[in-house]
Amino acid sequence: MSIAQNLKTIHDTIEKAAAAAGRAADDVRLVAVSKMQPDARIEEALTAGQRLFGENRVQEAQERWAERRLKYPDLQLHLIGPLQSNKAKEAVALFDVIETLDREKIARAVATEMAKQGRDLPCFIQVNTGNEDQKSGIHPDALQDFYDFCYGECGLDIQGLMCIPPVNEPPAAHFALLAKQARDLGLAQLSMGMSGDFETAIAQGATSIRVGTGVFGARDN
Ligand SMILES: *Cc1c(COP(=O)(O)O)cnc(C)c1O
Repeated sequence: MSIAQNLKTIHDTIEKAAAAAGRAADDVRLVAVSKMQPDARIEEALTAGQRLFGENRVQEAQERWAERRLKYPDLQLHLIGPLQSNKAKEAVALFDVIETLDREKIARAVATEMAKQGRDLPCFIQVNTGNEDQKSGIHPDALQDFYDFCYGECGLDIQGLMCIPPVNEPPAAHFALLAKQARDLGLAQLSMGMSGDFETAIAQGATSIRVGTGVFGARDN
């Protein structure tokens, strides 16, 4: 299957899942996750019209996108992987949305860089809905305080929440929890759902889904 065909299949599936949930298909944005994908596939996706991409490492994203950005002014890049504070400068310069705020130190570093660079990027808070020890994300019961810190203390433009459910659990309950927490905070955006579970995420209210292998095929490792 070509990437253009994959994109079409995914958009058809988004449409069906949205209709089944009584939602409009264009309320769900497709973030094509391009990490560890070869250049030829990136070019194919661009040729097919895809402009919204997600990356989980700052340096890899710079290598892949810094020059391409110049050629595609309407490109949108989301950071969907963990951010270290020593990479905040590069991240703020390159990305359009940062989806993975999860600690005060990172929130502060990002806010400081945005002020320095005169950039006011929309941000998401990543929530560790499964309370997993090794996983990034703020624990659900610490979310309110962290939101207050990001918004109140740092002045960040927090637009929504993001999660990656535990691999060995059905995702629906995690998506539902994220949706409830966003509602409670009055946040409109929900980044949830990947290749294997994005229909479930749409049923639970996802406004952006992050799809890698479903768009590009298996990654290089
Ligand atoms: C890699 C990645 C994805 C995409 O995963 P697929 O299963 O390939 O669709 C989505 N979200 C995050 C945070 C990722 O790191």
